[in-house]
Amino acid sequence: MAQYDIMHSCGHEQTHQIYGTDVRGERKREAERLARRPCKDCWKAGRDADRAAKVAAYVDVTALPALTGSERQTVWAAKIRVDGLAEIVEVVDAPPVPAYGTAIAAVKAGHPAPMFGPQLHRLRPGDRSEVIRILLGAALRQTAAGWWIDHRGRVAWAAMDVMSEAEHDRLATLLGHPA
Ligand SMILES: [Zn+2]
Repeated sequence: MAQYDIMHSCGHEQTHQIYGTDVRGERKREAERLARRPCKDCWKAGRDADRAAKVAAYVDVTALPALTGSERQTVWAAKIRVDGLAEIVEVVDAPPVPAYGTAIAAVKAGHPAPMFGPQLHRLRPGDRSEVIRILLGAALRQTAAGWWIDHRGRVAWAAMDVMSEAEHDRLATLLGHPA
């Protein structure tokens, strides 16, 4: 292990530990690779901005409903809510590869359609935005901070559980499922 002060592409310097062998200049190459990237803070800020922009295409992120819960919970939930909304946009825009077992489990649990797989890939652009809007709407009605905290990392699936019956039916139609 060795410590390197690395000047990143964003102009910030950060100290990195570089592990592993160094018989053929591996550490120097790793240091150079890191230097070509933005620092961790700038990378995170860029990722957060990307997510916020994806969500902002559908909802006004500066005017989200107030959250309820303890102060600690509401502060945390406010931080992760935009990530959760971005997750919905990402899952519907770029569906994960179908997982047969998970898809079957979703159908058995009464979901109109698993949120992955062929149905999502076949959606027409207009229908795709409608699916996103339905799920975002269902999620945004959740104002309990605890809901966002409990479902972080799987908000797209949690949103399906809180759809109204009308939203459920519309999603099933869009996804080509029999009523
Ligand atoms: Zn930086």
